[in-house]
Amino acid sequence: MRKFLIFTTTALMLSAGTAFASGDKAPHWDYSTGHGGPENWGKLSAEFATCSTGQAQSPIDITPASGERSGIETLYQPTVVDVVNNGHTIQLNYAPGSKLQSAGQDYQLLQLHFHSSSEHTVQGKSYPLEMHLVHKAADGTLAVVAVMFEPGAANGELAKIWNHMPVKAGEVVILTDMVDAGKLLPENRDFVGYDGSLTTPPCSEGVKWHVLTTPLSLSPEQIAQFRAVIQDNNRPIQPLNGRKLSQHK
Ligand SMILES: [Zn+2]
Repeated sequence: MRKFLIFTTTALMLSAGTAFASGDKAPHWDYSTGHGGPENWGKLSAEFATCSTGQAQSPIDITPASGERSGIETLYQPTVVDVVNNGHTIQLNYAPGSKLQSAGQDYQLLQLHFHSSSEHTVQGKSYPLEMHLVHKAADGTLAVVAVMFEPGAANGELAKIWNHMPVKAGEVVILTDMVDAGKLLPENRDFVGYDGSLTTPPCSEGVKWHVLTTPLSLSPEQIAQFRAVIQDNNRPIQPLNGRKLSQHK
């Protein structure tokens, strides 16, 4: 029997910091075609201006890139996680001690979260789910590893999370079972790299993107299970504006 606890964020001020940082004062935003939607994010607040003025925004369409640059190393530890429904996504806040190494830089894994449908497309193809593993270097630089999921066999590691998914915005579930982010990556770590942004307000740039080119699978039931709670939380594709993509192995 898996043990878990559910709290609402009003009842418990816990370490959902990355999910709720500045959330109380920030204006409402969403994924609609209306006032709060992606087309208007840049106008909702001075803090969000980069969402409309930025020239290096994410997500983008991933196209074949040339070259064979260096790959990534992931040194992830299984940990107990907080699973947060922040109204925009399902996010796992990861305990300190897990690392990504990319281009000679060390980054700490902070959190991972999901978008359905995928935000990046691959040569125009969309996937039903995309996971973002968000990392931060000592100098504040963010690196995100993106993993696509396609319909197929059920994913056992996702099931651990999905089975206790907080269904209401503001709800937090503390899984006492370990989650291993390493098991949420394909064996083949080839990726396309580019410089982009956060895909949610404030759309800050300088984010090092690593979009893995090998998808994982999840079952149609698992897609439906996620979309019953969160759906269509994907920002539209942004213009490349001359940015170069690079292939890594
Ligand atoms: Zn994301």
